[in-house]
Amino acid sequence: MTLQRLVFLAAIAVPVSMLHILFFFGFEATTTDEQLWHQGIIAAHFTQAVLFSLIGLAARRYQSQPHLWQANATFWSALLLVIISGASITILDQLVTTAVTPFLVACTIAGVIFLLSPRQALSVYSGAFALFFLGLELTQSDPAILLSNRVNGLTATGIAAGLSLMLWHHTVTRKDQEQKIAEQQQALQASNQMLEELASRDDLTGLLNRRLFDLMVQQELAALARDNKTSALLMLDIDHFKSINDSYGHLCGDQILRELSALLQQMLRASDLCGRWGGEEFVILLRDTQANKVPSIAENIRQSIEDRIFVLDGRSHRITVSIGCTLLDPNDPEPMLSAYQHADLALYQAKSQGRNRVVMRKTT
Ligand code: GH3
Ligand code: MG
Ligand code: MG
Repeated sequence: MTLQRLVFLAAIAVPVSMLHILFFFGFEATTTDEQLWHQGIIAAHFTQAVLFSLIGLAARRYQSQPHLWQANATFWSALLLVIISGASITILDQLVTTAVTPFLVACTIAGVIFLLSPRQALSVYSGAFALFFLGLELTQSDPAILLSNRVNGLTATGIAAGLSLMLWHHTVTRKDQEQKIAEQQQALQASNQMLEELASRDDLTGLLNRRLFDLMVQQELAALARDNKTSALLMLDIDHFKSINDSYGHLCGDQILRELSALLQQMLRASDLCGRWGGEEFVILLRDTQANKVPSIAENIRQSIEDRIFVLDGRSHRITVSIGCTLLDPNDPEPMLSAYQHADLALYQAKSQGRNRVVMRKTT
């Protein structure tokens, strides 16, 4: 931030120093003091112009990498340059005038441009005052003016320290607010994500709920209309699940539903989707799957469930499922409704043919 301000400062300081040189160039000194002052001022402004050009270039180069030591060096060199220029020009001025304006201006500029911690500001501006205090003696011999100007120097450095504290306070408060806003945004994002999860997941099993599953089927139908691929919809219903609830209780039934969901997810590919359709019925979307592979995948699922032993409260349970399968047909006038109807009918057939089996309908 300070380096950006330094780029602007250099862009102003360099032409202003050049103008000073131009103004002073035509001056004809009549005394030795005036001659010394004249030469000194031109040399000081020339040095200032050169050094501010270098500082401006360095600030431009390192403003986007404020953590580099070069950025740090540019910052401190510029601060020293501002203070030393102001002090040395004022000290030179004492040869011909009692004014301390350049030092006051330099301190004000330093105070508003350089971001310093209160401790740094105290050290920098105490040092600046000490430099000014001792330096004045070189060119100002009148004790009253010396005293008055030293007091003025104290005021100038005091103003700089005050401005610096204000800048620091403002920057720290702004950063604090920015951090708070960032934290609030993060919290908001997290709660939005949680709401999204709650709205799209089934509470008991963590599978996709019907709303989101439907949405995914719709998207899949849109993708199938573009690509030459086939995808299948499976509807799976636990056989005689009511008797598990009746014999062992609903909590046992719930646990079986959870474990079955985990088993289904384990068996499916990452690209497939599994949802809870309701009760003890599940739906599976086998994406990009050849039609002739669908019955064997479904059979594999059925067999794995039949083989699985669910151990709950020290008791072993076995379940079987019936599965109805169909292919998604994007060319159907009502592709989603039609897919669910075909899968449901296939499931009904599986149940009526004796359960624990797979039935596939509408294979093209
Ligand atoms: P079928 O082979 O014909 O499917 O017989 P079924 O007993 O599985 O079918 P039915 O539709 O008669 O009963 C389904 C049972 O599923 C009834 C209900 O108690 C149970 N069920 C539905 N949702 C839940 C649930 O969230 N938790 C538990 N524990 N049971 C549930
Ligand atoms: Mg059912
Ligand atoms: Mg059932």
